[in-house]
Amino acid sequence: MRATVLHSPGDIRLDTVPDPQLRHDTDAIVRVVAACVCGSDLWPYRGLNGEQTEPQQIGHEHVGIVEQVGAEVADVKVGDFVIAPFKHSDNTCVHCRNGVHTSCVNGGFYTGCQAELVRVPNADGTLVTVPGEVDDALVPHLLTLSDVFPTGHHCAVSAGVTAGSTVAVVGDGAVGLSAVLAAKRLGASTVIAMSRHEARQQIAREFGADHIVESRGKEGAAEVREILGGIGADAVLECVGTHESMKQAFLSLRPGGTVGYVGVPHGVELPINVMFGNNFGLAGGVAPVRAYLPELLAEVLDGSLRPGAVFDLTLPLERVADAYRSMDERAAIKVLLRP
Ligand SMILES: [Zn+2]
Ligand SMILES: [Zn+2]
Repeated sequence: MRATVLHSPGDIRLDTVPDPQLRHDTDAIVRVVAACVCGSDLWPYRGLNGEQTEPQQIGHEHVGIVEQVGAEVADVKVGDFVIAPFKHSDNTCVHCRNGVHTSCVNGGFYTGCQAELVRVPNADGTLVTVPGEVDDALVPHLLTLSDVFPTGHHCAVSAGVTAGSTVAVVGDGAVGLSAVLAAKRLGASTVIAMSRHEARQQIAREFGADHIVESRGKEGAAEVREILGGIGADAVLECVGTHESMKQAFLSLRPGGTVGYVGVPHGVELPINVMFGNNFGLAGGVAPVRAYLPELLAEVLDGSLRPGAVFDLTLPLERVADAYRSMDERAAIKVLLRP
């Protein structure tokens, strides 16, 4: 099959590799219908995840059709259209029952989803079947459920966003835009998107942002306070993962508020004394996508939730190198890949 392989930072290719095989009785093999590039894929692409010693298959967001199942797979059937969260989990252990599927005692990461076929461990616990015929127009929305939308949602939930909350979102990538939509969905009264890019501002507004703040740093935080009657936001959603973006989040928060964070932290140092002095909360982490899927999938299927607009470019899998380049250069927000 053809699969995306990162040979070294900046050198990404579509290679021919052996088809994945069932390794455990609980595995499934899924034929990818659509995959995409994640902001977190850009860290190894840019060589910022430590030294890469050998070529590696990459990609962790996909939807597809089950092609083969192991002997112990009971719920997922060959031919099912499935959503595949980016971490696998058994959906039965104590952490899964607590809704923290990303800490599943039998779970873990799996990779290689920017490919034609993927082996998914713990198939029954991990994969969620989309009932009925799947209209092709629904595919982008369904694909967001494998990571990006539930991650934005997790950020908002972690920050305690509820009916009437005031919210500022730091980061205008696909996760930040998803967080805008998630905050509105949870009933936020005011959502401020911090963005300097017109195309991204446009999607933020479509997703429900009431205000756009272009300034950064103290000036940006001052604009947030001005909009919110002189105090910071009840909840700030940090969707980048850098030291600067975390700093921006705390600058924009009101005393007693909470920062939700879902960007993979790279070089973040927390201002613990400022947090202590202002009763600032911080909550979030890697999103337990599987926990949120039943609720979010139902709304995608009934048409009330439409998160697919984060994909502003669709390319055939052959052009995966262009997909990475355009996201790296911020020419595209998020690229959908079709094998
Ligand atoms: Zn991702
Ligand atoms: Zn578990």
